[in-house]
Amino acid sequence: MSHTVHRTDVVIVGAGPVGLFAVFECGMLKMRCHVVDALDMVGGQCTALYPEKPIYDIPAHPAIEAADLIDRLAEQAAPFNPTYHLGQQVEKLTRTDEGRWLVETSIGTRIDTQAVIIAAGCGAFGPNRPPLDGLEQYEGTSVFYMVRRKQDFAGKRVVIAGGGDSAVDWTLSLADVAEKVYVVHRRPKFRAAPESVARMDVLVREGKVEMVVPYQLSGLVGENGQLSAVRVATLDGEEKDLPADALLAFFGLSMNLGPIAEWGLNLERSHIGVSLPGCATSAPGVYAIGDIATYPGKLKLILCGFSEAAQAAHAIHPLVHPGEALHFEYSTSKGVPGAE
Ligand code: FAD
Repeated sequence: MSHTVHRTDVVIVGAGPVGLFAVFECGMLKMRCHVVDALDMVGGQCTALYPEKPIYDIPAHPAIEAADLIDRLAEQAAPFNPTYHLGQQVEKLTRTDEGRWLVETSIGTRIDTQAVIIAAGCGAFGPNRPPLDGLEQYEGTSVFYMVRRKQDFAGKRVVIAGGGDSAVDWTLSLADVAEKVYVVHRRPKFRAAPESVARMDVLVREGKVEMVVPYQLSGLVGENGQLSAVRVATLDGEEKDLPADALLAFFGLSMNLGPIAEWGLNLERSHIGVSLPGCATSAPGVYAIGDIATYPGKLKLILCGFSEAAQAAHAIHPLVHPGEALHFEYSTSKGVPGAE
């Protein structure tokens, strides 16, 4: 574990659209932010679940694709120099003797902060892992749930498991560079864009991709974290081994409130109850906004989360700048006040 303890004004748990906008709102009030997300990219549900879906109810954008909205929000937050800690889950929130909070993550990052904004959506996202013995010893070395760099799979024998868009899209993409691509799926039918499925069928006919259908994963063969084969079985239990260097498992993402449930906050059916105005939780200095927050009349919409971010930032200001009058400022033609 690192001995460094970062120090900041506000820690934002969750880099979804609402957490990103909270960076902007805090920045406008001269409050520095660190942002932590379990995913290794920003954007929350927008990036992970529907990046190419148009959103029609963002003011002044008659239509904007979810991924574009996230790019714009990150750009809007950038002048305030937030520090991002991605690919790690916030596990512990501990009140310090000075009345601040110590935030600790799953990989040992520690941040001492005056206030915490929980913008954690439905909880932390994580891949749905196949229930295979010894899976952990291969994760990150030859079993993966996302592709960071296509070139990592160049010249390799790759087994892709799953029947959705990710499985089909990566089959199309990796067929170019991999030595061999197997696609393991329980059913002959794929839940993916028909045009992509048709392109995959062409690759199968050309011999670049081998369909292993209807099969499911049943085991991993290898040693020291390096796979030599992926074992698959029919629904009747008939097994065979596919010689492989890597397994890419695309079984979707699960969401889990996870450690947040243990932070002693006022929970209402997997949401954090907050009081208005300000979105304060039952713990002093801890605020909740966006999908995870609930109050009478709450609407789970991005635009409502934006307003909650502004409210929380204003509520936190006196904690970070005690005794300092809050001169309410609009963003002006001179740029954003507070940005360095
Ligand atoms: P999220 O986007 O859920 O982000 C929360 C982030 O917090 C996640 O990245 C998660 O990994 C992280 N996190 C959680 N717990 C932890 C932890 N302990 N440590 C570290 N990180 C953590 N809304 C609209 O307004 N308009 C639409 O058209 C629309 N369409 C939608 C379509 C679909 C298919 C779906 C699924 C949702 C749609 N929504 C829409 C809803 C919208 O996506 C959500 O309201 C919005 O994403 C909520 O933003 P958020 O920042 O609160 O949470």
